[in-house]
Amino acid sequence: MNKVAVIGAGTMGNGIAHVFAQNGFEVNLIDISQTSLEKGIATITKNLDRLLVKLKITEEVKTNTLNNITTFTDIATGVKDVDLVVEAATENEALKLQIFKTMDENAKAEAILATNTSSISITKIASATNRPDKVIGMHFMNPVPIMKLVEIIRGYNTSDIVTKTIMELSKKLHKIPLEVNDYPGFVANRILMPMINEAVETLYNGVAGVYEIDNVMKLGMGHPMGPLQLADFIGLDVCLSILNVMYDGFKNPKYAPCPLLVNMVQAGKLGVKSGEGFYDYSESRKAEKVSKQFV
Ligand code: NAD
Repeated sequence: MNKVAVIGAGTMGNGIAHVFAQNGFEVNLIDISQTSLEKGIATITKNLDRLLVKLKITEEVKTNTLNNITTFTDIATGVKDVDLVVEAATENEALKLQIFKTMDENAKAEAILATNTSSISITKIASATNRPDKVIGMHFMNPVPIMKLVEIIRGYNTSDIVTKTIMELSKKLHKIPLEVNDYPGFVANRILMPMINEAVETLYNGVAGVYEIDNVMKLGMGHPMGPLQLADFIGLDVCLSILNVMYDGFKNPKYAPCPLLVNMVQAGKLGVKSGEGFYDYSESRKAEKVSKQFV
């Protein structure tokens, strides 16, 4: 396997393209938006420059990495001659089903189709194709060039050989793959999101303030970021949507999103990306100032 396509050049897609290209793979980077492609390549270049300054790569590695990436705006053309596609387009079920149908119709019959979805069922996505044995979850973490984990999610029909191939491939990217089965939230979000939700509930119940909740977890549990700061970083809309997927999927009230989280999303307070969540990011992105709502 030496030629891959990555669909989506956003936050995750450009990181995924970067790690494949830096490890010697030829990458077709595909996005419907030419602007996203240009921004994606600019981000990869900036991240390579950072590695260059820290002497972690040479000028030659930077040049080769960039030369390994070709951009496309059309999925059908971009997936035609690749051995693997990693889909990292916007988190929307109808969109992903359509993309997988197009990929299935245009990629080689033996190509593996992977998705980086955070919450949509791999089995459901696979059902949009005629090759459900070759559809698998490859859940990279943000920021992709730095985070070691890839959660490898086996759909109901994913074959042993495809799982083994993707596990081995992830190691070639210098990542650590961990195999899990396809149930709502997989493992990472099934454990993380209830913790975040409980932190919001603790704030909502008036047990403690934002600073206290985050620092109990940082200083007491050794977490690098408190759960409320992490929620702001991920995006409160994304957290709400993943909790809803688990709530619907398990029909268990323990995953019901806290009303405060719902209210904040409805009010447009989405965290770092909107400038305010549990913290105020108008002056710094470092979560140094608690939002005035919670002071
Ligand atoms: P993003 O919004 O930054 O990027 C999505 C990109 O997809 C955009 O550039 C958009 O133009 C492109 N796109 C939309 N429709 C398309 C189509 N039909 N064909 C080709 N490209 C299309 O999103 P993101 O944060 O990079 O998330 C991408 C995926 O990764 C989602 O499934 C998300 O759940 C998952 N994910 C995100 C994170 C995270 O922290 N951001 C972490 C793990 C997994």
